[in-house]
Amino acid sequence: MMYKLMTSKQQIAQKIIDFGKTKEVLDTENGFVGQNKDINRFLRNTPFAYILGVLYDQQIKAETAWSIPYYIYQELGHLDVEKIAKMQSSEILEIFNRTAKPRYPPKMAEWTVNAAKEEAIFSARQLNPDYPGIFDKPCWIIGRGYCFEQNPNCNACPLIKVCKYNK
Ligand code: SF4
Repeated sequence: MMYKLMTSKQQIAQKIIDFGKTKEVLDTENGFVGQNKDINRFLRNTPFAYILGVLYDQQIKAETAWSIPYYIYQELGHLDVEKIAKMQSSEILEIFNRTAKPRYPPKMAEWTVNAAKEEAIFSARQLNPDYPGIFDKPCWIIGRGYCFEQNPNCNACPLIKVCKYNK
């Protein structure tokens, strides 16, 4: 997705932060598409939930995909990256079976543990250590509203000047 399209990380980070201050982002109260307001609030405030939402949002209903991180959080009582990185994917699979029942449970359980191990979250921290979640909402809006896999709307995208993939 969008994170793959980076040229100069700091330049892009600044563009995303600037976009996050615009009316378009600030006024998008229901930008996330979880199954209810609690889930959307959770997604907005939990960077790792956002990363999982991006991973899960493939060939299943977006509402389901973006709600699964919340169910994991409810079952575990946390969404702690370091703790999840130490779990077996079979433990996540059990959670899926009890709650969301997504279409590809074993694969998604594996993605969950791998994502916790990988450095996506740490990249966000490096770009803005004080508040990694600052990227969540603007990135989500760019991903949902501009950067489509087929025919991205680069002309209107806030990243057009810094994205080397613009068309
Ligand atoms: S400029 Fe185009 S390719 Fe780059 S992030 Fe925006 S929509 Fe995606």
